[in-house]
Amino acid sequence: MMKRPSILKIAHLLICLGAACTITSFNVPPRQKAALRTIIIDPGHGGFDPGTHGLFSQEKDVALAISLKLGKAIQDAFPDMKIVYTRTTDIMPGNMPTKNAGLHYRAELANKSHGDLFICIHGNSDGHAPGRYLAKRITGYKYVGKGKRRRKRPIYESYWKTNTRVGTGSYIWKADRSGIKGISINQRDEDSTGGVEEMGDSSSEAFDMASPEARIRAQLYEKKFFANSALFATLVEDEFVKAGRHSDGVMQRDEGIQVLQATGMPSVLIETGFLTNKEEEIYLNSEDGQNEIVRDIVDALKTYKDRLEGRGQGDSSSRGVGGPRATGRR
Ligand SMILES: [Zn+2]
Repeated sequence: MMKRPSILKIAHLLICLGAACTITSFNVPPRQKAALRTIIIDPGHGGFDPGTHGLFSQEKDVALAISLKLGKAIQDAFPDMKIVYTRTTDIMPGNMPTKNAGLHYRAELANKSHGDLFICIHGNSDGHAPGRYLAKRITGYKYVGKGKRRRKRPIYESYWKTNTRVGTGSYIWKADRSGIKGISINQRDEDSTGGVEEMGDSSSEAFDMASPEARIRAQLYEKKFFANSALFATLVEDEFVKAGRHSDGVMQRDEGIQVLQATGMPSVLIETGFLTNKEEEIYLNSEDGQNEIVRDIVDALKTYKDRLEGRGQGDSSSRGVGGPRATGRR
């Protein structure tokens, strides 16, 4: 004779069934999350900080124009992505009173917005006056003084030297590169780059690198974000080269760009060209030039996204990313 199940037993059975359903639903693989949901675009400088300047334009304006075009182009290519700008007008981000406060604001905004990639847009300077500058050369020697005090002295002549330095370069924050394969990073003397700019009032003040917080962030960057920063930077420079531009490749620094590691995400600072070169300044200010730069960065972003999402493996890595750089027409 069958025992009729008690109400309690039925209830128990229902709970178990419910639990089983819940467990099963956990086993169904979730829909793959997009690797890039939020992109932070950071136009360099702004407001009281003009950055470098050319013969007729300022870096803060060029950076803003390219950044706004970039955001729009990314939005067009990836309607699901969210774009967050650190500024959209000619201000120091957050209307901060100092460059350092501005840097902190940029990093904080990026982190609060849960960015997946931080892109800083800048224009470069070779450390000389824009266009051309007066240089000196020795044309001969003369003797001055008499007897023991007679000395040979060079005769100088002033002449105009054209600023010929052109091209792009992408900076990532310096980290231990061990374990990163297939990406080469130019070991470049910081003072050989000429116009290496400081983004803060002083590189050491902007972010206290000795603080425990900074050390934790640095470790995090090294472990989680360095490889992807290097990958994106490499893809960007590859696109610039394809467009016929000269590229200095991917470089790493720590001084002056700590904002990159202070953002808890892969982050790259793109020097889009030299404002101190007359032709490149014209290019950087032109619609065509800005559109080309934007196209190159968006193309790099497409490849980067594919790589993060496990597609398109091998095409760029087999090219030996970061290899010898071609010198193009610019
Ligand atoms: Zn700059």
